[in-house]
Amino acid sequence: QGRVIRGIRISRYPAGTMLPAFIFTGTLHAREWASTMTTMWIADQFVENNTIDPRIAAVLDSAEVFVFPVQNPDGYEYTWATGGNRLWRKNRRLISGTTYGVDLNRNWGLGWGGSGSSGTTSSDTYRGTAAFSEPESVGMRDFVIAHPNLVGHIDFHSYSQLWLWPWSYTTTASPDQTALAAVGIPMQTAIKAINQKTYTAGPSGSTYGLTAGCIDDWTYGTQGMMAGTIEVRDTGTYGFVMPTSEILPNAKENFAASMTMMEKLLASSPITITLAPGSLVADNTASTVEVQTVPVVSTLITNGVRLKWNLDGGTTQSAVMTSIGSNKYRASLPAMACASQVSWFVEAETKFIITHAPLNKPTSFNLTATNSCRNPADLDGSGFVDAADIGYMLLDFGPCGDPANCIADLDHSGDVDSADVGLVLLEM
Ligand SMILES: [Zn+2]
Repeated sequence: QGRVIRGIRISRYPAGTMLPAFIFTGTLHAREWASTMTTMWIADQFVENNTIDPRIAAVLDSAEVFVFPVQNPDGYEYTWATGGNRLWRKNRRLISGTTYGVDLNRNWGLGWGGSGSSGTTSSDTYRGTAAFSEPESVGMRDFVIAHPNLVGHIDFHSYSQLWLWPWSYTTTASPDQTALAAVGIPMQTAIKAINQKTYTAGPSGSTYGLTAGCIDDWTYGTQGMMAGTIEVRDTGTYGFVMPTSEILPNAKENFAASMTMMEKLLASSPITITLAPGSLVADNTASTVEVQTVPVVSTLITNGVRLKWNLDGGTTQSAVMTSIGSNKYRASLPAMACASQVSWFVEAETKFIITHAPLNKPTSFNLTATNSCRNPADLDGSGFVDAADIGYMLLDFGPCGDPANCIADLDHSGDVDSADVGLVLLEM
């Protein structure tokens, strides 16, 4: 029906900043209003409390947050409409006759068509004619692809009190099961700490049952994001129609899970700078940088620790830092000419996230070469341009014997001549 899917970007930085980003999505299934309120609460917390809550402030210092409360706006509208259906699940595509709707959480491209999805058009889990046959899944897919800085994703549904991570389409363990559990179990604990509610947690296929073509299999499996599905309250007493008294406590416990995912990922490969040059260095001398990083969620990728710099504001350069044992890595910043400036930072890349030092974002140290910087006309290095330098120049007067080693030829003409004397006089 063409309704717009609206999202909220919450950040301290200009759009396009390549900070790690998290995305929280809801209402892929129209009737699951508790997921709408949960995602709205997440957005509300980040907007309202980003200066007064130190945990929220810390996340927004290092990351940005996207929230899409309603991914199925046509279906959602239908659950409110007079003559609609409060318990409608799918989108509102007209299939034929009086048959409507594709299940937007069976329409994604990883594992599409498998178990737990239906080819029957009237089914509540009808997967569509092909992966990404629906404009809603295409729109969300294209948004995610356009934001390669996305590192974490929770898709909220109701109900059942489950926290499910990939895979959904198979019971085979994902290659990142250890990392997913390393973040997932603390998320489960964080939920329980708020209101003592127990959410069952684990890989979706073996914990809940097979469901093929889900959004989070795709965001994890094709985009490398840490992803999963939370089925919020309750376990069946009220089902999709949550009593108003439970909306806020439900939102708060799921906000706690969301915060835990963000904090765990942002802290998953902290970098300690163990050796760094001071802000002033000798000219024409390379500087050594050493760091230490011990990833705690997933391992570093090959060549995953890199020194990045630019010289005098030019193009960013990158060098793989060499492992020197004890989780330490070393690389060199280039030698610079006098008064040049280099800006540098270090990044560490693991499966899910690139972390940075000095801060967990691309913030640089500045380094200026000045130490032995001297006026080229100070030929004898006395610290002054004076008559002694003219005397030095007169000794070398005439054609340069070795043009590469002819410091008195200040204008690089090939001769030490009166023009060079003129330059010394100007600097005197
Ligand atoms: Zn759902």
